[in-house]
Amino acid sequence: NAKSQGQGGFCFYSAQLNERLHERMQLEFKLRGAVEREEFFLEYQPILDSKTGRITAVEALLRWNDPEKGRVMPDSFIPLAEDTGVILPLGEWVLRTACAKLRQWQDAGVMPVRMAVNISGRQFTQGDLSKTVEDALLQSGVHPSWLELELTETCLIKNVEETVRKLCRLKGLCVSISIDDFGTGYSSLQYLKNFPIDHLKIDRGFINNVCELPDDRAIVDAIIGIAKAMDLHVIAEGVETRQQAEHLMRRGCDEFQGYYFYRPLPEEKLLEVLASKAAAGLPPGEDADWLE
Ligand code: C2E
Ligand code: MG
Ligand code: MG
Ligand code: MG
Repeated sequence: NAKSQGQGGFCFYSAQLNERLHERMQLEFKLRGAVEREEFFLEYQPILDSKTGRITAVEALLRWNDPEKGRVMPDSFIPLAEDTGVILPLGEWVLRTACAKLRQWQDAGVMPVRMAVNISGRQFTQGDLSKTVEDALLQSGVHPSWLELELTETCLIKNVEETVRKLCRLKGLCVSISIDDFGTGYSSLQYLKNFPIDHLKIDRGFINNVCELPDDRAIVDAIIGIAKAMDLHVIAEGVETRQQAEHLMRRGCDEFQGYYFYRPLPEEKLLEVLASKAAAGLPPGEDADWLE
């Protein structure tokens, strides 16, 4: 143990540990306050139909506007929000806000798109997710078929029977379910068959080198093949080049999301994009710019 390493060692480790604990507690405290003060906002990344280039959906992505540090990205606060349970009220805020925005856009006559919302493991396993989702839908008046929930494999396979029950309850509301970051968790093909899901989102780790690495190409082909066989809709995340998009389209991938098309956009920018001609895409063949 640390003490047997001598006085110096003990002090060094405990000081360091103490500092980290202290930082963590401070961040947790700030995060809880931030939820109450509503210091969060959403950006929206368009998702396009691979055949037409039409924007069919947007993914809501959470950002924290920290008064001291400015904009903070989710990877630096979601894990702590998960550990501390802050994700429950925060996740509710995301669902309510995403649905309210969608309704506002629909009322304003903006081109219709699906809204994809990320759900963390704890929200799925611990909270009463179907109640939260139902409330957000009722409050906003958004038709459930426009809402898509993104879940990860890891959160689904913890308790398979419970998962099936929960997914069925959600499907009963008529929302759609996606598996996010597909291929990175402990994927079991068995559950794909048993879970009532609609979309698979191939993790961007496989898309990165899909044109260069035969292994990644084989994995992506396999995922698309399985998805097709099970009648699931496949979305590729992290498409960064035209070459990747063309390859994925030829392999039968249904939708694209990635920097090559659009980065996550603030609401005003998204609305500009949705109002422009680009959003509606053009039928294949008529748009020289669309994929071959
Ligand atoms: P995710 O759900 O897999 O979201 C996609 C992430 O990939 C986003 O990062 C997006 O900006 C990024 N991305 C999209 N296209 C590209 C690309 O072409 N290249 C690269 N390099 N990246 C791309 P972001 O916004 O930083 O979000 C990171 C993760 O944080 C999300 O991964 C999701 O797991 C989590 N997250 C975001 N918003 C929420 C939320 O409201 N609730 C929960 N529970 N998690 C969230
Ligand atoms: Mg996602
Ligand atoms: Mg993802
Ligand atoms: Mg991801």
